[in-house]
Amino acid sequence: MELDTLAANMGVGYDCKGSISVPIYQTATFQHPALNESTGFDYSRSGNPTRLVLEKGIAALENGNIGLAYPSGMSAITNVFMFLGYNSHLIMTEDIYGGTYRLLNEILNQYHIEATYVDTTNLQEITNAIQEDTAAIFIESPTNPLLKVCDLKAIAQIAHQNNILLIVDNTFLTPYLQNPLQLGADIVIHSASKYLGGHNDLIAGLVAVKDQEIGDKLYFWQNSTGSILSPHESWLLLRGIKTLGIRMEKQQQNAVSLARWLQNHPQVTRVYYPGLPDNPGYLLNLKQARGYGAMISFEVRTPELIPRFLEHIELISFAESLGGIETLVTFPYTQTHGDINEETRNSLGINNRLLRLSIGIEDQKDLIQDMEVALS
Ligand SMILES: *Cc1c(COP(=O)(O)O)cnc(C)c1O
Repeated sequence: MELDTLAANMGVGYDCKGSISVPIYQTATFQHPALNESTGFDYSRSGNPTRLVLEKGIAALENGNIGLAYPSGMSAITNVFMFLGYNSHLIMTEDIYGGTYRLLNEILNQYHIEATYVDTTNLQEITNAIQEDTAAIFIESPTNPLLKVCDLKAIAQIAHQNNILLIVDNTFLTPYLQNPLQLGADIVIHSASKYLGGHNDLIAGLVAVKDQEIGDKLYFWQNSTGSILSPHESWLLLRGIKTLGIRMEKQQQNAVSLARWLQNHPQVTRVYYPGLPDNPGYLLNLKQARGYGAMISFEVRTPELIPRFLEHIELISFAESLGGIETLVTFPYTQTHGDINEETRNSLGINNRLLRLSIGIEDQKDLIQDMEVALS
């Protein structure tokens, strides 16, 4: 079945009464039919029917076999890193989500999980960074916030030749546009707080894997550390996912128009969007994904334009996060990437003239009008 069909029908008929919307099994525990017997559910940390529908759902959307639902994207990422084990080395995309960077550099380094940051669009840099204790390559594609495209198939090959896992944070493109497991990745992670939830109303994380052994081990970690999504949040996320396809289509359509419009604006010096044919990642992205998503970063002429822009937007909200139906703008320099030291930020291009837009489903005429005023 195709993704739109799977998504829209997630959980339909799961309940014995035939309800279309899967019930919220708001229970901590379950009756045992008899000694040594179980309905399949014993205690909601270990398994809950509402969460299970979601977990099976994300596995299906990502062409995996096992799905897991966590209370946030960061808890999903933490569990995956912890599962790699003590003394693990990681190779990471250099312009990675700031929270992932903070987790590694301020917390997991204390547990001897260390990372080397490289430009993962450059395969040679990845190969050069491999050490004896390298356990995984962790990438985002497109990257955050500069939207650089990494060659997933080629990186998977490098990883597997060296007995290393490839982990992909697929938050930006979602399974609607990109399926990393099909391109060779071993573990796919989502901050479902973004496009999958889609309405800026929940925090959640999802993981999908193909390999049963990795899946079982991750489940063991999840259950043991208690990193689980609640039944209510699972239900809300399921409801969001049902409209993933039509939201992504509209958001992407708006993003293409806005990126072109920004490119022609005199106050804008640079536009980062893999959907623009002159973007260096344009062709590679089309080879491995079905679209370019709806995240755009752009640089304005002077730093003084930034506070003016943020003050004068009326429709667009100045807020962290992304992926929802409302258009949001962030200033990565102090927001999402504020935990990265200044020199690194500047050398990456995450400077004090850069803004990142998450395009929503509004009418693009209104979005353009709002930006026109704010940039004037
Ligand atoms: C938001 C985000 C995360 C963290 O997810 P939370 O749900 O906020 O914990 C991780 N990776 C990417 C790419 C993100 O955008």
